[in-house]
Amino acid sequence: MKHRILVLGAGYAGAFSAGYLARQLRSDEVEITVVNAEADFVERLRNHQLAAGQELPHRPLSKVFAGTGIRIRLARVTGVDPDRRIVHVEGDQGSDRLQYDTLLYALGSTVADHGVPGVNEHAFHVAGRPAALRLRRRLDELGGHGKVVVVGGNLTAIETATELAESRPGFQITLATSGELGGWLGSKARRHLLRAFDRFGIAIREHTTVDRVEAAGVVSGGTDIASDATVWTAGFAVHPIAAASGLAVAATGQIAVDRQMRSLSHPDVFVAGDCAYAIAENGRPLPMSCASAGPTSKRAIAAIIEDLTGRKAPIVKLSYIGNHISLGRDDAIFQLVDGDARSRTGALLGRKAARVKGAVLKGAAWGAAHPTFGMPTRKYRLAAEVDRATNTLAA
Ligand SMILES: Cc1cc2nc3c(=O)[nH]c(=O)nc-3n(C[C@H](O)[C@H](O)[C@H](O)COP(=O)(O)OP(=O)(O)OC[C@H]3O[C@@H](n4cnc5c(N)ncnc54)[C@H](O)[C@@H]3O)c2cc1C
Repeated sequence: MKHRILVLGAGYAGAFSAGYLARQLRSDEVEITVVNAEADFVERLRNHQLAAGQELPHRPLSKVFAGTGIRIRLARVTGVDPDRRIVHVEGDQGSDRLQYDTLLYALGSTVADHGVPGVNEHAFHVAGRPAALRLRRRLDELGGHGKVVVVGGNLTAIETATELAESRPGFQITLATSGELGGWLGSKARRHLLRAFDRFGIAIREHTTVDRVEAAGVVSGGTDIASDATVWTAGFAVHPIAAASGLAVAATGQIAVDRQMRSLSHPDVFVAGDCAYAIAENGRPLPMSCASAGPTSKRAIAAIIEDLTGRKAPIVKLSYIGNHISLGRDDAIFQLVDGDARSRTGALLGRKAARVKGAVLKGAAWGAAHPTFGMPTRKYRLAAEVDRATNTLAA
């Protein structure tokens, strides 16, 4: 019987990891199946561009994984039973149970509503492609004019507000944030950010905590801020599936893992990307970001290959070097952070930073969407210690 590796999610972490595993393990010994809700690899980093009306390349998973031997299962994961090594899915073919020997959990994240009433009913967001397209339809419906309130003061809020302002200049855009806009940036980068908002004509309402979202706007401390489309960009949260499954999770709902991205409660479950509660070299949890999807995936892949073949892989560092923030298509900020995650004084700004950001976006999408390109395809045999009857490691 082949060893069954089930990869949940085909985003940056899942697509890259599945491709890499297929390159390193033999298809006559290992069967790799990827479960994903959508038929395409989604460049989530560009969802704000999609919402603004720009066209992005389609990357069907059937093409991404062509020639790798990876099986694709288009379905929504509805539950995981890690004690019985079963994943429950719901798809066009109805509901099903998928059995695994090794699980790689990489379902990413969605929007965090922070329990604010009205977010789910009335707000738009850009955390997933269907949601970004819904916002785009709403902006189209409004015919190029109207009021947009973007809630949040962090990376996604900044990228969304500036992208909408540049691509949809007829809209009056307001950004409302409970803190200071980009308050964590170094002084040079923050000045650049405020100049960009000024140039785009985006109104900034700082120290404005949104208590409620309504159909016609948001309410903050008894004050109404009118809006034809409210965009909720106040952070990400993981799907509740992990916490409901009995896997050990952190307070964030992310799966608690060791240095190898192995679940603390279930050693045959590995985690990569936004779902992993991974502690970086500086002792802090890695932020949910594409930049963290890379090293967490590499650690998980290395551990799976080591478990199955006995081959030791080099350990990649779990560190986060900085924030790359687009301000429309021609402007950006690349803010480096120090070992304690504090912004450094200097930053790369303007067109140069936009070009670097463009290259990073292309590189991330290319890496995930071309799993057979440019990497070693050495195939390792399963170690004799893998018990073929039970597909577990012999004690
Ligand atoms: C607008 C925007 C801009 C961003 N900009 C940056 C940036 O500049 N830099 C940066 O580092 N990060 C950025 N991020 C964050 C980054 O996108 C995420 O951290 C990254 O996508 C995480 O990768 P992942 O593989 O864990 O999850 P994802 O890329 O979200 O992939 C998860 C996959 O799982 C699938 N899935 C989810 N739930 C289910 C289910 N129940 N069943 C089946 N499939 C499911 C999804 O369809 C998806 O394919 C941005 C995010 C957004 C929304």
